[in-house]
Amino acid sequence: MFNSLSDRLSATFKNLRGKGRLSEADIDGTAREIRRALLDADVAVPVVREFIAKVKARALGSEVAQALNPGQQVVKIVNEELVGILGGQTRELAFAKNPPTVIMLAGLQGAGKTTLAGKLAHHLKNQGHTPMLIACDLQRPNAVTQLQVGGKRAGVPVYAPHPGVSSEFEAATGDPVQVATDGLAEARNKLHDVIIIDTAGRLGVDAELMRQAADIKAAVGAHETLFVIDAMIGQDAVTTAQAFNEGVDFTGVVLTKLDGDARGGAALSVASVTGKPVMYASTGEGLKDFEVFHPDRMARRILDMGDILSLVEQAEANWDRGEAEKMAKKFADQEDFTLDDFLGQMQQLKKMGSMKKLLGMMPGAQGMRQQLEQFDESSIGRVEAIIYSMTPYERNVPKVINGSRRARIAKGSGVHVSEVNQLLERFTQAQKMMKKMAGGGGMPQMPGGGG
Ligand code: GDP
Repeated sequence: MFNSLSDRLSATFKNLRGKGRLSEADIDGTAREIRRALLDADVAVPVVREFIAKVKARALGSEVAQALNPGQQVVKIVNEELVGILGGQTRELAFAKNPPTVIMLAGLQGAGKTTLAGKLAHHLKNQGHTPMLIACDLQRPNAVTQLQVGGKRAGVPVYAPHPGVSSEFEAATGDPVQVATDGLAEARNKLHDVIIIDTAGRLGVDAELMRQAADIKAAVGAHETLFVIDAMIGQDAVTTAQAFNEGVDFTGVVLTKLDGDARGGAALSVASVTGKPVMYASTGEGLKDFEVFHPDRMARRILDMGDILSLVEQAEANWDRGEAEKMAKKFADQEDFTLDDFLGQMQQLKKMGSMKKLLGMMPGAQGMRQQLEQFDESSIGRVEAIIYSMTPYERNVPKVINGSRRARIAKGSGVHVSEVNQLLERFTQAQKMMKKMAGGGGMPQMPGGGG
């Protein structure tokens, strides 16, 4: 996510570090570097111009001159101004006083609307809402079925026009405005408190598409219209966003495909150019690859200052309290830490999502990107396979696993015997650590996923 921008900015700030005083030339040089980095990342020119002007004015002023550590003060200014570009405050959905709250998704074809609909429904459901999805993309073949699949994964009902009509080769038929109003009536009947309407996109902005989206919006009285945009589309992001802003007057932005390696900077311009806040980010194809967008946290990530808050939230959302308590009790009772426990901890970690993504939120993560890239997510799956190939007794008392059993286990789990050895070694270390900690009463360290 914004990797090259992040690298460039970090390199720029490195030059300032430790300088007792910053001359005007230092600040000019830094501003020039930042400007180039932003432009290379595809941030829109007017946005860059305004940003640099603000940073420079502040950097030349007294807050830096009087700072104990001027270099750090400049980073602080850049951080604050970046938060501003990204929309300032975190903006939550505004729920209607009289439910259902109507949320409509708009954007180009392929932006990720249908995928997002499922994720957003899942997110709202986890917050205690009772969402329903409405399939109004009757243009793209398969869109209705895709939404139905997404709804099923999220455990949320989908209102669709003619179930089964849409196929890979043929779009569903019907009038999207009618489907939207029928869907709203159904949601009222069934007491859903929020509906999410997926609408059709086109490959490019066109008048007919815009009219259809505006008609649906008017017919259902949408409370929130979210403009969904692919962060990888480059400089076109600004013109597309402007067209949709005029066409449907959206209330918030969702950035998708932030997991990609694209420069992504154009997406950073959207909030600035349209004056509408970025509300969510989509970072993959899975249901959990979804985040509430916090401008301050995103700025910290871009500046490689880490995003511990998001990390903790991810952990809280996915951590199984029952399991954690069981482990804590085992500790307190000084029971042996077994391979089953080890496996349980691994599976807890896995539930939190991609390790790469989690580790990427740590401060200084950009500096260890290469190691992160090499992290092998499948290693957790292999560890599972290895442990499952052991007998229950072996899992409880791993020291009985001798050479020939190791070979059998390797064969049974389809890995090389060296992986079994490595796992047992890591486990022994973890077990030692647990013993030590049990004395101290703290929480165990995570059994690293290897890689
Ligand atoms: P729509 O036409 O706007 O409804 O777009 P879709 O939801 O069908 O998404 C288009 C493609 O992008 C699909 O292949 C999705 O799986 C993929 N996609 C959507 N969101 C993301 C994301 O955040 N990251 C990645 N890598 N792919 C995504």
